Amino acid sequence: MSSPTEATELVSAPEQPHHEVVIIGGGFSGIGAAILLDRAGFTDYLLLEAGDGLGGAWHWNTYPGVAVDIPSFSYQFSFEQVAGWSRVYAPGRELKAYAEHCVDKYDVRRRTRLRTTVTGAAFDDVAHLWRLEIDGSDPITARHVVSATGVLTQPKLPDIDGLPDYTGTVMHTARWDHTVDLTGRRVAIIGTGASAVQAIPHLARTAEHLTVFQRTPIWCLPKPDAPLPGLARAALRSVPGARRVSRLASQAFVELTFPVAAHFAGLVPVAAVGERIGHTHLRQAVKDPRTRAKLTPAYALGCKRPSFSNAYLPTFNRDDVTLETTSISEVTPTGVRTVDGTEHTADVLVLATGFKVFEKGNMPPFTVRGANGLDLEKWWEENRFQAYQGVSVPGFPNFFTILGPYGYNGSSYFNLIETQSAHIVRALRKARKDGATRVEVTAEANADYLASALGRRGNQVFFQESCGVANSYYFDVNGDVPFRPATTLETMWAARRYPLDAYEFTA
Ligand code: NAP
Repeated sequence: MSSPTEATELVSAPEQPHHEVVIIGGGFSGIGAAILLDRAGFTDYLLLEAGDGLGGAWHWNTYPGVAVDIPSFSYQFSFEQVAGWSRVYAPGRELKAYAEHCVDKYDVRRRTRLRTTVTGAAFDDVAHLWRLEIDGSDPITARHVVSATGVLTQPKLPDIDGLPDYTGTVMHTARWDHTVDLTGRRVAIIGTGASAVQAIPHLARTAEHLTVFQRTPIWCLPKPDAPLPGLARAALRSVPGARRVSRLASQAFVELTFPVAAHFAGLVPVAAVGERIGHTHLRQAVKDPRTRAKLTPAYALGCKRPSFSNAYLPTFNRDDVTLETTSISEVTPTGVRTVDGTEHTADVLVLATGFKVFEKGNMPPFTVRGANGLDLEKWWEENRFQAYQGVSVPGFPNFFTILGPYGYNGSSYFNLIETQSAHIVRALRKARKDGATRVEVTAEANADYLASALGRRGNQVFFQESCGVANSYYFDVNGDVPFRPATTLETMWAARRYPLDAYEFTA
């Protein structure tokens, strides 16, 4: 029998979590966070992925033509630069293979659980840990949670009457059905965003006829793409510094085309130069002036995400491709009807209609209840989107995000992943050093950060009148654009130098 003292000790022994860190999401964000936590000595992590494979966007998006649209030299981890890309802009399957390579090389697979959907997360303020509800399985507890569920992951179906009664084949670009043969079929595609821009040239080559339903034209810029011949790959592999130099050049290009162009538009008029390039590209690519006019955006470059393609615009010169800009009234059992009464028959309907972004149930796709039961989605709804350096939110201790509001500056996602992981590692190291089991960003640090982000709006490209007609998913319900208005160097510096008293560490 235990003595009264021993019994008290047993009762009050703090509950130990199953894992020090649980990472939710098996895309590059989750994989990168896992590797970097591991390297920093946080080896007791578990990575949970709802799907049946790793690689995130590159696991799910397999539509014809899918490829990265920033140069591959930038679209990879700085600590794992490979030399085998077949092109400057690698096709999607190479990104998926790269994800698998990283998972194996850095021993992530052993600590991964696939087909494991987190449905809810609740912070236990007594035990200082998160309880994760798992669909169809026992809960998992973690001292810390890294949410790496991405943003552009949940396909958005268009709210068009009649869609459920369509009798042909329907597929969303992010859930491509490779058993469907498009040869000799009449295909219709709704949407002209980045996914459509990549798929359309391929669909046009296969289908008997392709009808493209465009609501808002996209800015399409030339893509400086080319195959990387064996010699170039060999040089990247063996010439000292070659990978570093190619990455540096590619980073500079990416930095100029998004973060600088978007956030410092008032200081550096890159967007205006980009528009001139876009207009020239369109003039050279499309013969018919009426088609050209339809493809010309009425909003400034930067209001919504532009695309890069050399093949998209010339597709509209083909006799077997129709660009339809009359609004859709409904989907019929056999095609798509536009408001002028015309029915466009189609055997296959492709929905290139994008993803949920700021809609409920997406950031993240499970309920998060922090200290005192505070609901994250509701808190953001009531207080607008915000997160300290895009990573942490007051009231949600031990909870960190890779793609939180005001975290991503528009450069390569790999910069973001490494930067946010560095931020998280720094906070966790301090917690470990202090023996703290509860880490929470202060309300002041968060408020100051938000104020500074909003204070930089004046130079951003987003807040000009023409953006009103862009239909851009960048804008949330408050009209905010929660991108991080900073250069990549600044984000890297801030992640490694933020004042540690921005967080409260409690044992
Ligand atoms: P998206 O950019 O959101 O485009 C959706 C398209 O569907 C838009 O043209 C939209 O028109 C149209 N649409 C939606 N609902 C409609 C409706 N009811 N009726 C008519 N048209 C409708 O989606 P996405 O092309 O899949 O691209 C999403 C993001 O994923 C990109 O911005 C990019 O960040 C990422 N992405 C990256 C790559 C890459 O790196 N290689 C490739 C693909 C995607 P409106 O513009 O009028 O709303």
